[in-house]
Amino acid sequence: MTFIDHRIPGHASAAGEGTPIFNPATGEQTATVAAGTKADADAAVAAAKAAFPAWSALTPLKRARVMFKFKALLEDNAERIAELISAEHGKTHSDALGEIQRGVEVVEFACGIPHLLKGEYSKDVGTAVDSFAAREPLGVVAGITPFNFPAMVPMWMFPMALACGNSFVLKPSERDPSATVAIAELAHEAGVPEGVLVVLHGGKEVVDGLLKHPDVAAVSFVGSTPIAEYVYATGTAHGKRVQALGGAKNHMVVMPDADLDMAADALIGSGYGAAGERCMAVSVAVPVGEETADKLVAKLAPRVRTLKIGPSTDPDTEMGPLVTKQHLEKVKGYIDKGVQEGAEIVVDGRDFRLQGYENGYFLGGTLFDRVTPEMAIYREEIFGPVLSVARAKSYEEAVRLVNEHEFGNGTAIFTRDGDAARDFVSRIQIGMVGVNVPIPVPVAYHSFGGWKRSLFGSHGIYGPEGVHFYTRLKTVTARWPTGIRAGASFNFPTM
Ligand code: NAD
Repeated sequence: MTFIDHRIPGHASAAGEGTPIFNPATGEQTATVAAGTKADADAAVAAAKAAFPAWSALTPLKRARVMFKFKALLEDNAERIAELISAEHGKTHSDALGEIQRGVEVVEFACGIPHLLKGEYSKDVGTAVDSFAAREPLGVVAGITPFNFPAMVPMWMFPMALACGNSFVLKPSERDPSATVAIAELAHEAGVPEGVLVVLHGGKEVVDGLLKHPDVAAVSFVGSTPIAEYVYATGTAHGKRVQALGGAKNHMVVMPDADLDMAADALIGSGYGAAGERCMAVSVAVPVGEETADKLVAKLAPRVRTLKIGPSTDPDTEMGPLVTKQHLEKVKGYIDKGVQEGAEIVVDGRDFRLQGYENGYFLGGTLFDRVTPEMAIYREEIFGPVLSVARAKSYEEAVRLVNEHEFGNGTAIFTRDGDAARDFVSRIQIGMVGVNVPIPVPVAYHSFGGWKRSLFGSHGIYGPEGVHFYTRLKTVTARWPTGIRAGASFNFPTM
């Protein structure tokens, strides 16, 4: 059985401590990953701290050249990494390739770091006085990532952090770390020195070790809201800059004038793709008006019933298994709860069985209608192939529903009416908004980030926000001796 150890120069984990990893399609254990301790976290931070001075002293252009090589290696190895993702996460091969591509796009953006770090210069802010401002790296930065994007989410973080001149301790999910490890190896092959990118495995103990470590300057976290809130509170209490991205409940409002076939396509793909295990999955459809709702449910139900569910190794598969047995039980528990709470179950996926894969963590697509705001299946993030239809009597009611939800990651409106779309975009209290686009994940040269309880901290991730998060501003005011000499002044300086 493969044992996946930390990648910390000169350090190995104490023998015997490990967490099992399973193939979710078969239920078989495929590897064990190191269950790190505080001592491992300390060793990781020490290695990153030692590597920081030389890396940060490289010119941005030299760091950019490493990123160019890294991008090429990622593209050459995309098939292999996608297989690693699917074998531990369960998502389809094409979906895995998609997340790699979105990660590569962040690396492409990081290749432009010399331009992105260009400062500002003001000549003559006073007589013979000039001023310039530039951004400098922070030092050791830590990144803690979730299971659902083992390639993309780490690449939302470390390429930007490294390009800015930081060293990085990456703590991937203990459920599917192999793709993340392979990506870090490619970064080393591209020229990132070993200590500049360190991979540390484990759960709460290593995360706490990072959050409380005096040599960690900043923490990027992506995961569930309770842990995001904890990471933000603990990290900031220990003086760190923290961005912590959490869970979601993304609503898609369907107006009576929408192209309903287009809306149904969007809901099937964004609701059931990756078995609903996406932070930008649409989990609530909000048709406006009874007629829109009836037509939409009639279009969705047969498609949910006939989703092609299977292992990632079958090229026809549209939706794979859930990530772990525990998560499968949790999602089934939500479906039970929805039925008990009185939602109308239109398609029930609980009894789905796949011949030959009886031990896999498969669940059928599930569709609820007449879901109301007090129900747990509406309030909480299910993170499974369960779509809820919450009918709204009017556009105003739809806007209120979205705005009153505690999460604020993504939302979308489907309509042909430009006025309605424009009003929605301006009034909606959500960080990422789609107009006839169901999963509005910003491209790499914009930034990703939710509002409300979907993001703790003041910076989005990657893009320009990433540059700001991973650097701090230094502003220099310089006077030259040819200037007028006015003698000692006891007044506050003015130019
Ligand atoms: P999770 O919160 O269980 O785990 C995330 C990370 O935190 C992992 O590395 C894990 O090891 C660590 N962790 C777990 N428990 C911890 C604890 N008690 N103390 C310290 N660290 C702990 O999340 P997950 O199940 O891996 O991922 C799914 C969640 O991530 C969903 O809620 C999803 O919405 C969210 N997510 C959000 C975004 C976003 O951009 N907002 C993106 C992807 C995933």
